[in-house]
Amino acid sequence: MSHFAWLQGGDARCTDSSPSPRRAWRLVLLGPPGIGKGTQAAALVAQLGACHLSTGEVFRHAREDAAGLLAAMRRGELVSDEAVIELVRERAHCLTCSRGFLLDGYPRTLEQARSLDALLADLNVDLDAVVHFQAQERVLLERLAGRRVCMACGAAFHLEHRPPSRAGRCDLCGNLLSQREDDDADAVRIRLRTYAATMAPVLDHYRGLGLLYEIDAAAPSEVVLARTLVALDPLARWRRV
Ligand code: AMP
Repeated sequence: MSHFAWLQGGDARCTDSSPSPRRAWRLVLLGPPGIGKGTQAAALVAQLGACHLSTGEVFRHAREDAAGLLAAMRRGELVSDEAVIELVRERAHCLTCSRGFLLDGYPRTLEQARSLDALLADLNVDLDAVVHFQAQERVLLERLAGRRVCMACGAAFHLEHRPPSRAGRCDLCGNLLSQREDDDADAVRIRLRTYAATMAPVLDHYRGLGLLYEIDAAAPSEVVLARTLVALDPLARWRRV
């Protein structure tokens, strides 16, 4: 679950009082719908101590004043670049946090990537890496069909691969699990098509900057996490001190 200040935006203050990790990781996590990015983000947060900053989660928490954005999201379409860029700029303080960050689901278009470059340059913050999780479409479709999420705490389960211990209830907070509105078959088709079209230039952009790390995510989540940590290991400068 993302931090309060990120979710609320505006003047909301950070409520995290845990000590900063020895090394602040600044990562972007990218991957198609169903790849398990949320699960990987949670595991990486636990391992690296960085803050989880998900743009999708901000939209899911948005209230009625964001009805237009929510409608686009339910249809499986991207929210406009303008709206997402504004959302991230409003929360720029989270990008300078001494805990570092895992930016999840942003940038999704080349325009967003360029805007993020400019924002980070203004803030004098360097990205360590852009991690791209990938798998074949049939793996994604199978994961999305069985995904159930807790609307209260954001924890994700899978009917077959990660069933909750009590049917229909979140293991973490006990609230009801449900299917995300944008996980229905029509929305999923649009999301996968959109992802393929808009992400290719973003990946090229980060490949060109030497920041892209491709991770094969067609494996159990512990294996994907281990692969990611191995890929990032050469960047763990503090270990060499
Ligand atoms: P996610 O949780 O990352 O799968 O995002 C859920 C939905 O939120 C997406 O399908 C989009 O409608 C919207 N969204 C999240 N991040 C972005 C972004 N960077 N650009 C445009 N739309 C986004």
